Amino acid sequence: PKFVYAFTEGNKELKGLLGGKGANLAEMTNLGLPVPPGFTITTEACKVYLDSGAEPVALREEVGAHLDALERRMGKQLGQADDPLLVSVRSGAKFSMPGMMDTVLNIGLSDESVVGLAGQAGDERFAWDSYRRLIQMFGKTVLGVDGELFEESLEESKRAKGVVTDVELDAADLRSLVEEFKGIVSRETGRGFPQDAREQMDLAIRAVFDSWNGDRAKLYRRQERIPHDLGTAVNVCSMVFGNLGPDSGTGVAFTRDPASGQQGVYGDYLQNAQGEDVVAGIRNTVALAELETLDKKSYDELMQIMETLETHYKDLCDIEFTIERGKLWMLQTRVGKRTAAAAFRIATQLVDQGLIDEAEALQRVNGAQLAQLMFPRFDLDAEAEQIGRGIAASPGAAVGKAVFDSYTAIKWSRSGEKVILIRRETNPDDLDGMIAAEGILTSRGGKTSHAAVVARGMGKTCVCGAEDLEVDTKRRQLTAHGADGRGSLVIDEGDVVSIDGSTGKVYRGEVPVVPSPVVEFFEGRVHAGAEDADELVQAVHRIMAYSDRVRRLRVRANADNAEDASRARRFGAQGIGLCRTEHMFLGERRELVERLILADAEREREEALAALLPLQKGDFKELFEAMDGLPVTVRLLDPPLHEFLPDITELSVRVALAESRKDHNENDLRLLQAVHRLHEQNPMLGLRGVRLGLVIPGLFTMQVRAIAEAAAERRAAKGDPRAEIMIPLVGTVQELEIVRDEAEKVIAEVEEATGVDLKLTLGTMIELPRAALTAGQIAESADFFSFGTNDLTQTVWGFSRDDVEASFFTAYLEKGIFGVSPFETIDRDGVGKLVKDAVADGRATRPDLKLGVCGEHGGDPESVHFFHEVGLDYVSCSPFRIPVARLEAGRAAA
Ligand code: ADP
Ligand code: MG
Ligand code: MG
Repeated sequence: PKFVYAFTEGNKELKGLLGGKGANLAEMTNLGLPVPPGFTITTEACKVYLDSGAEPVALREEVGAHLDALERRMGKQLGQADDPLLVSVRSGAKFSMPGMMDTVLNIGLSDESVVGLAGQAGDERFAWDSYRRLIQMFGKTVLGVDGELFEESLEESKRAKGVVTDVELDAADLRSLVEEFKGIVSRETGRGFPQDAREQMDLAIRAVFDSWNGDRAKLYRRQERIPHDLGTAVNVCSMVFGNLGPDSGTGVAFTRDPASGQQGVYGDYLQNAQGEDVVAGIRNTVALAELETLDKKSYDELMQIMETLETHYKDLCDIEFTIERGKLWMLQTRVGKRTAAAAFRIATQLVDQGLIDEAEALQRVNGAQLAQLMFPRFDLDAEAEQIGRGIAASPGAAVGKAVFDSYTAIKWSRSGEKVILIRRETNPDDLDGMIAAEGILTSRGGKTSHAAVVARGMGKTCVCGAEDLEVDTKRRQLTAHGADGRGSLVIDEGDVVSIDGSTGKVYRGEVPVVPSPVVEFFEGRVHAGAEDADELVQAVHRIMAYSDRVRRLRVRANADNAEDASRARRFGAQGIGLCRTEHMFLGERRELVERLILADAEREREEALAALLPLQKGDFKELFEAMDGLPVTVRLLDPPLHEFLPDITELSVRVALAESRKDHNENDLRLLQAVHRLHEQNPMLGLRGVRLGLVIPGLFTMQVRAIAEAAAERRAAKGDPRAEIMIPLVGTVQELEIVRDEAEKVIAEVEEATGVDLKLTLGTMIELPRAALTAGQIAESADFFSFGTNDLTQTVWGFSRDDVEASFFTAYLEKGIFGVSPFETIDRDGVGKLVKDAVADGRATRPDLKLGVCGEHGGDPESVHFFHEVGLDYVSCSPFRIPVARLEAGRAAA
């Protein structure tokens, strides 16, 4: 195979072979844009090197041939003493990877050629500065010398001279710094800094290859689920210099605003500087627009190029460029990152410009971005005192009083206070405090820290790793060390703070929160067609319309009451996929359930059931009305009964106290007996779901009767109820058959009494491995399946969700065992395989079997794509996730 491609030979489709950077350098070269000539070593060469421990034999020669060609073209040789050709060696994998080796600039400089460079440029300082940078970058990234040593030495020479910035060092200072640096290299590596230019280049290339397997790179790939066998490409690019005086400089640019999507001139420019200075923030950059006054010719050319790139890539591009003595050079471009709001706006702008079609527009946005836009946010126009910034770990805008331990968080929130739980880092003991808090702030830990993982799981706002904030839990204080030298500021327990989980910003005091305009739009309080409708709302409206036109999956809501159902409907729900009837048994009705559980005579039980029937019926009527004309899946009682009884410890204490006072409470005693009787070590796997229906006579039939009578009454009121009855936790078809027989009898009775054909259907959840494995049999007795992927994930993995997320998931995520919790995104290979097979087996038995999913995965973007692929009819998710599911269903189908 061919291992080296000149920039003239590649193109943007070859990212796998040439890496993102290399493919785009080639693309720009072939568009006729001014790219400094160079070549790219393929990922294939890297793979051979990594597999065999040596570069492919042909590589040395191929690199030599391409170098020759480059030298002929440039009219000088790499490292040539009197006029050296210099190159940069730049890593560049298929996916941009921050964990990888950095770029080495100025390769080809040596004790000899540094003098030649000085003469050619007519600038000694420049030449010595370039050499100093080479030894530093090469020493650190290629030779593995601790970078601190160079930094310290640089600081020391500035201190010695009494100056603050690098630019104040003159040629002589830099020359002695070079000697210092060379000394560091010799001491640390046992040999001198390599003087041979080709050796420098070859070592740098090999170092880029090796960096593919660096610890940081590996960890990053595990977390981002990037395959480990892709390898990286290496770009060798002739150097251009932005640090050759005031008519030189370097900058970055965007073809439109990555924050808002607005078209215009966005970017930063730094006069008389090399690329890495912009990032390092050594001096202040100026806005790109100022380049027009500094160098009109280069500015105009850049504007022209930006337009070319946008039309060519049909998307927002970001750009690195350098101007060397009035000549513009392009050093990098790629399709640029952007905020969620910008993504939606840009997608529709590009449709309007005729650059992309609607299907493509759907690929330019995603559900995670839409979800982000739906969180309430801080009012940007309000006065706010920012005191620090951490990692945006879980979105949202939270305001509350600072508390520094879980106990206080719980205590204060019980008395109605809003609190922000502030910890250095959290651990499983903080769980209750996290639940009680509006938001969580930590000073340590990254995106996979305990706080971040658990907060995301709970949908709670979280900023983590705010390292500029010092947390002192003993003194109950948060100290912000002002970066601008305004001294430190202390937040005490009880002081109000505001945290922004979408930006990571932390504020003192209460910052006003405004609802998301996107939610206002979905709620119907803002209209996309209105004169003054904001551009974002219009864009979201249009994208949702594209999506609804193409999607095959229907989207339903998990909702237990008329209010949620109505909201879900406004958000676009096409029915209810899961109504949990246990939620109807709470509050005052708990007592009725208690009576049901305590009943030892049939009469007592029947009385309790008779009392529950009209209440349930009322709920169903409201629900059917809110969802008139659309399907409503009602799940019969699912959780273990003891969830409806008092806490065992509390009750025991009460009974014991009463005993000691000799005042007998018969009811409490019976209750306590029941609690003991029903106590289970592992209730998740105990007496619940269909098992309850089979052992408590009359429970399920009461619920079925309530559904049937509610439907009949809705029909009498000229409504169109479409109820579906769902049996939970079935493991074998026999369970379903028994429940079905009883249910059908009840339904027939109601139909006869009312004279209407209720068209009720009866199906089951598939949420146990055995149910999935015997789906073909179960389908004989089911009109529909709804995959309960929460329980299915628990039982397939053997994880108790309530326990594992707070205990060892952080460690699993950090070790990269999974990139994301299987409760968040469906595990395709395990749980997903069961779903896929159950779909096939179920449909083989009953081709018209209706299939849906009602776990939380129904609102997760990646999982929605999976459910589309395996051919489900619908997904069901919480009302707030419905727009996300609609969008992702469209993206999956487009
Ligand atoms: P990264 O992937 O970190 O952006 P790059 O390879 O793009 O790394 O290089 C880092 C910096 O060095 C960038 O600012 C880039 O523009 C600059 N740079 C890279 N190669 C050259 C070159 N041949 N001439 C001048 N500057 C360069
Ligand atoms: Mg770059
Ligand atoms: Mg379940």
